[in-house]
Amino acid sequence: MSHWLAVLVQTPAHSAVAGPLTYRSALPLAAGTLVRVPLGSREVLGIVWATLDGPPEGRLAQDARAVAGVLEGLPPLGPAWRQLVGFAASYYQRALGEVALAALPPQLRELSAVQLARRLKRQALAGGEAPAAEPLRLSAQQAQALARLEGEPGPFLLFGATGSGKTEVYLHAVQALLQREPEAQALVMVPEINLTPQLEARFTERFGPQAVVALHSGMTPAQRLKSWLAAHGGAARIVLGTRMAVFASCPRLRLIVVDEEHDPSYKQQEGARYSARDLAVYRGRLEGAKVLLGSATPSLESWHHSRPAEQGGRYVRLEMPERIGAGSLPRVRRVDMNHQPRRAVFSAPLLEAIRERVARGEQSMVFLNRRGYAPVLHCADCGWKSGCPYCSAWRVFHKNDRTLRCHHCGFTERVPRACPDCGNADIAPLGRGTERLEEHLTELLADLRRPDGAPLRIARIDADTTRLKGALQAQLAQVHAGEVDVLVGTQMIAKGHDFRRITLVAAVNPDGALFSSDFRAPERLFALLMQAGGRAGREAAHSAASEMWVQSFHPGHALFEALKRHDYPAFAASQLKERAQAGLPPFSFQALVRAEARTQELAQSFLNAASAAAQAELAALPGWDQVLARLSLYPAVPMSVQRVANVERAQMLVECPSRAALQRFLAAWHGVLHATRAQPEHKGLIRWAVDVDPLAI
Ligand code: ADP
Ligand code: ZN
Ligand code: ZN
Repeated sequence: MSHWLAVLVQTPAHSAVAGPLTYRSALPLAAGTLVRVPLGSREVLGIVWATLDGPPEGRLAQDARAVAGVLEGLPPLGPAWRQLVGFAASYYQRALGEVALAALPPQLRELSAVQLARRLKRQALAGGEAPAAEPLRLSAQQAQALARLEGEPGPFLLFGATGSGKTEVYLHAVQALLQREPEAQALVMVPEINLTPQLEARFTERFGPQAVVALHSGMTPAQRLKSWLAAHGGAARIVLGTRMAVFASCPRLRLIVVDEEHDPSYKQQEGARYSARDLAVYRGRLEGAKVLLGSATPSLESWHHSRPAEQGGRYVRLEMPERIGAGSLPRVRRVDMNHQPRRAVFSAPLLEAIRERVARGEQSMVFLNRRGYAPVLHCADCGWKSGCPYCSAWRVFHKNDRTLRCHHCGFTERVPRACPDCGNADIAPLGRGTERLEEHLTELLADLRRPDGAPLRIARIDADTTRLKGALQAQLAQVHAGEVDVLVGTQMIAKGHDFRRITLVAAVNPDGALFSSDFRAPERLFALLMQAGGRAGREAAHSAASEMWVQSFHPGHALFEALKRHDYPAFAASQLKERAQAGLPPFSFQALVRAEARTQELAQSFLNAASAAAQAELAALPGWDQVLARLSLYPAVPMSVQRVANVERAQMLVECPSRAALQRFLAAWHGVLHATRAQPEHKGLIRWAVDVDPLAI
């Protein structure tokens, strides 16, 4: 006798096979069971998605093939996990098979039955509890936050200043949970791989190394599988990871922490473009796990959700305004660049302040959000600029290896000796990146010595200096060890790192974000500056003298005024007011459809045709006129970097005050997009994809 199963396999994003396939099995298999099934001439990993009552109709039954094998020793993926994956696929408009299989560790696809059995055995042998460290005594505000966390269902937004001890609250929350329920599991997420070692150290110190597993893309496939098995089998108490960890199978999940919840890294930017933060909230509800989002500068969405319940708020806001140990937040100093010599990169007062720090043996951090030496090379004679032949973008000048590099397609060439157009030998860099900033600062401070008479040490940390594995850790260790006096870098250095001896942080040129066409740019800048400022004076002994410097041509801008007062709530209130007036998120919901083609015209005409077809088709159906009336479908436009690697890119924005209505429309539109793509006039289209709740539009 045969049992009939609907099995999910990895399917290409837009293949015709979007849902589960039908297979036969001699044995009854529960939903969630991991299996190997034949697909074409290959054998692939599959997930039993549902058991069917009987054979499917007609041909399907004859064509159905038999399950090749079961992954022995692995419990089935639970119903909550399957619901989470199902929701993510439908909400973010991707194939179920793609989302489900991508949520599993890649090695699970490759291991033979024997290899897997060996892994599971090794897993079972590991063990032995290490002694755990004593917890710290909570401050009054930490204790209060924890008490509410324990007593209320949430979800919670922990709004705590940098250095207020949010991590300590997470540690206590996990501890309280495990005391109550020793078999429970907690999922703790951080935005970036670089931040995991620090956090992992704090958790293993507290709970012992056996209790904690990490899950992020910087791990080897074998490590990832090991962590995943520990989480799925229930052996791991704490799963710590980046956005991908939101899909970790944890059968006894009771607590989800999303640290730095505002960070854009929680949004996946390719494939299924999910927000791990939003999925965490959804997952918490599904599994009955408490959700704790934490930030000193929450996303405006989460902040808005945490308004008082009488005004419609859905999250509980927990506040921790004070730094631990009575450390004060850095004093914000604004320099009006209108009163500085033209072309000055470092104003005299900032330079003087850095000199003072060096003389006192303290560290400074200077950041600029642009890597490379200069964003473009330029010939003053004929106007030539170092454009990329394949992209609508400039190639960035990197001085250390004398290259021009396109940061979009990667195209790299040696810097020409003379202008390629007119032969002028005098081509010059325009603007500056971190490499040039470091060089400039080295010149400006050439006469300076450390208190011990040794030469000054300036270091740079950005994507270029940290390409090699372990490079970032090594460089951070140097900063921690006090071997660096001035640290120059991109936003990479502004996030999360616990630099104890930095007493001055400077943003040399943050103005770009004030007038950006991206409505989220001010929010991101404010968060970045608050985070960066949060790096200063974390040692209470230094905090009184710590400063955050901002050089700007608009020093009176409301954003900087709020920054000066460390007043996130005021900043958020003014931004939310603007967003409400403009009907932007969180007061509306957005989706983008992006299309790529050889010509801009084709990319746009595909989107416009699909939009027109959807409106015409749906308007004819009962009940749809109301949905369509609330929806704004904008015309297709070129993306801000319109051409990358010779591919033209266009996008179309859809906006709606109702999330449910937008979701209904997107679900219906999906088929229309496929049909439009199939029309002969759109044959040349390369690809299209939907981005729900996009972060950059
Ligand atoms: P945040 O995550 O809010 O930036 P952390 O949790 O990293 O803050 O805490 C900042 C510093 O204060 C850390 O060095 C931490 O060990 C210390 N700390 C936190 N809570 C306490 C406490 N209750 N007693 C003493 N030190 C604490
Ligand atoms: Zn020229
Ligand atoms: Zn390019």
